[in-house]
Amino acid sequence: MSSVQLVLFDLDDTLFDHRICYRGGLAALRRRWPELRRHPWKEAVDVYDRSLALLHPLVLQGTLSSSDSRRARLRSLFQEAGLDPDPGTLREAETVYAERYRALRRVVPGSIPLLRSLRAEGLRIGVVTNHQAVPQREKLRELGLAGLVDQLTISEEAGAVKPDPAIFEAALEAASVDASKAVMVGDSWESDVLGARRAGIRPVWFRRGTEGPADRTVQTLRSFRPLARARSVILNPPRRRPGRTG
Ligand SMILES: [Mg+2]
Repeated sequence: MSSVQLVLFDLDDTLFDHRICYRGGLAALRRRWPELRRHPWKEAVDVYDRSLALLHPLVLQGTLSSSDSRRARLRSLFQEAGLDPDPGTLREAETVYAERYRALRRVVPGSIPLLRSLRAEGLRIGVVTNHQAVPQREKLRELGLAGLVDQLTISEEAGAVKPDPAIFEAALEAASVDASKAVMVGDSWESDVLGARRAGIRPVWFRRGTEGPADRTVQTLRSFRPLARARSVILNPPRRRPGRTG
């Protein structure tokens, strides 16, 4: 019998398929402006990933708005392709990207059956996410996840950003559950795995094609399918190897 009472999930690229949406947005831009295809697809994705990694922390700090961040990312895409977009082009690019992103919104396969099955056992489900409150609540609602999540801890409201243990502690407090009875499932090595560990929570690394260190001490899931395997990893801590402690 598992001692787990609270299962925490990251949102972007754990329950919500952000990757498919933003790649679809990029592809739509390349269809609209064929000059952007000057660079191979992988390079365009790299440019976008790099500027996101650079700008997202500023959005989390509240020093840059989401729309300014999006516009700056789009500008860098054009500039990398040797183009100098005027404000009208950038506005149109924002619309093309946002419409495609929104049209592709979906949950990560297997996540809804998993949440239902964990809840059916009386487990509490939480989301711990680094972002602003409005878009994250909207995503949960539109994806049909809102009714499957008991509590939502968003960095903007919690005043702490993963991997800061304070955001995980806020989630534990909201559930009145001890860290030893919680699990954190997320795709980011730094934010989710290391963050949870710092808060004393057992992490499950949701490694959906993401890069990261070869750490054999962390439990890993590559998919929420099959359901039985996902449940088993989430509900059961790893067996300690003989001769090892801690
Ligand atoms: Mg994530």
